[in-house]
Amino acid sequence: MKIICVDHIGIAVKNIDDSLELYKALKLKVSGIEEVSDQKVKIASIPVGETEIELLEPTGSDSTIAKYITKKGEGLHHIALRVENIDKALQELKGKNIKFIDEKPKQGAGGKKIIFARPGSAGGLLLELCQKEEI
Ligand code: ZN
Repeated sequence: MKIICVDHIGIAVKNIDDSLELYKALKLKVSGIEEVSDQKVKIASIPVGETEIELLEPTGSDSTIAKYITKKGEGLHHIALRVENIDKALQELKGKNIKFIDEKPKQGAGGKKIIFARPGSAGGLLLELCQKEEI
């Protein structure tokens, strides 16, 4: 398996518009806002070099992001590493006792294939692996 880069950093926020004040002060710009309905989340992408900051706003009270904010407050939610081949990475990491939340990768924002490792098997970190859409 090969890790290409940090694809994005996910930040849980109550409200994207309110949170944008900080990023405006940092002179960063939103490149797009997308709703991922099956995850009940609205995502604002803010490019920072090769990486992006993703602001994650819950769109329902039963969203995992809403639950996260209730429990831990707003802030760092997950880190996503971009891999060359997500299926290969998954297979290799499963063999190294890293456990994943889902069996198979699913469709994430921007047409990426994504999967999350269980924090209990990844040093307390919610680690996402993602692979860019094949062109
Ligand atoms: Zn993510």
